[in-house]
This record gives sequence, structure tokens and C-alpha cells, in this order.
Amino acid sequence: MPTRMIKTMALLLGISATTLASATENKPALEIKQLTGDFYIFTTYQVYNNQPVPANGMYVVTDKGVVMLDGAWDPTQNQPLLDSIEARHHKKVVLEIGTHYHSDRSGAFDFLRKKGVKTYSSLKTLELCKEFKEHEAEFYFTKDTTFHVGKLEFETYYAGPGHTKDNIVIWFPKAKVLYGGCLIKSADATDLGNVQDANLKQWPETLKKLQQRFPEPAYIIPGHGDWSSRRALIHTLELLQRDKRNRNETGKK
Ligand SMILES: [Zn+2]
Repeated sequence: MPTRMIKTMALLLGISATTLASATENKPALEIKQLTGDFYIFTTYQVYNNQPVPANGMYVVTDKGVVMLDGAWDPTQNQPLLDSIEARHHKKVVLEIGTHYHSDRSGAFDFLRKKGVKTYSSLKTLELCKEFKEHEAEFYFTKDTTFHVGKLEFETYYAGPGHTKDNIVIWFPKAKVLYGGCLIKSADATDLGNVQDANLKQWPETLKKLQQRFPEPAYIIPGHGDWSSRRALIHTLELLQRDKRNRNETGKK
């Protein structure tokens, strides 16, 4: 849920945003953990249905600055995230890519742009950001693109619709890291999460294309939840199969 919506809801309900935020008291505001080598996963939270919901982003340290994939979902954590990166690595974030138009992926564009970070999304994502009044990246790419920052190489890949019609993944060939964003659910996810804008019919095909293109990732990073298991992609396929069965059964009634 976008923060402004939470704030509006809080105002309508006559309670303060702080009351809602207190539901996250048991959770840290910002977690940063090393994935491997120069790769780090950061997690921030938003309160949804009175529960703290985590969202993952990633950053990679290069000899020419830090590359970030998606920003903090909790906008109050964007500055602490940059501060923490600078304190730990003595480097600035130079480039960020948002992997689809929802606010957990696009919400940091304006903040990062003001900080001098080059923000990117696909053209499709930019168009959807405009349509749904989300933050917009400064730059866009029109097709799958390979980036080079210092010695780091990575590529964007659009395998098809799934969680949204614009969701892309990012592949780091040397470290074999597949950053899946919300196209991939965590291995411990019990459902498909927010499927309001999803294409449930094509999602499995999209994932199979992804498997073919990157058959042996060493790490798979989902948009939300646990990121320690390479079963995440297969588990997402299982969740989609189960969802399809449930919908078929409901349809028969
Ligand atoms: Zn998401």
C-alpha cells in the first residue's frame, strides 16, 4: 500500500500514523545483510492489515560506486539506507533500477534522483508509473539492457507478465545472482500476495522462460520475505498451480 494511502487512511480513521507505525515496533525499520561478496540485501517494512510486511531491495558495491535495485519501501528509510551504505563502504549510490511500477519498487525514484542517483526503469514501467501516479525514473530503457558500472556487469530481462505486466528481473552473470523482485515469491510464502494487477494465466509461462534463460542461479532474490532459498522460483510455480486448481474448483461450483 502506498504510504500516502496509509496516511490518508489514518487521517480518515482519526488515528495518527504513529499508531499504525507502532505495529512495526517489533521489527527493525531497516535491515541490511550481506548476500555474497559485494551483494547486500536490504529490507524495510510497511504495515498492511495491521501486520508488518517486509520488502527486499538489493545493492551491489563496485569500484565506481554502488548500484541499487529498488529503493526502501518505507520512505523514511531511504536516507538511513544511503547513510549506512556510505558509512560501511565509503561510496555513494550512483545508479538505481526500479523493477516494476508499484510503490515498493518505484517509491524511492524521486528521493534518489534528488540525491544525484541516476534512476532507471523500463519504458513500460515508466508509462505505468505515469498512469498510476507513482514516482517516475529519470531514465528508461526500451528493451533488455546490459549495464556496466566499473567492473560489474548486469542485465535487465523482461520474461513476460506475472505479478504485474511490467515486472523485470536483473541478472548478474558473474555471481549468478537472479534478482527476481515481485515476479518471484519467497520459498516460505503461503500465497501469491497482492495479485490485483497480476496476470495469473501467463505468470507460469513467464517463470518457465526465466528458468530457461538463467538455468543455474546461485541466488534468487524475491521481492518480499525470506531470500535464502533457491526454491523460491519453483515454489512460485507451485503457488500458481495451487491457485489455478482453487480457481477451477470454485468455478465448478
Ligand atoms: Zn512487491
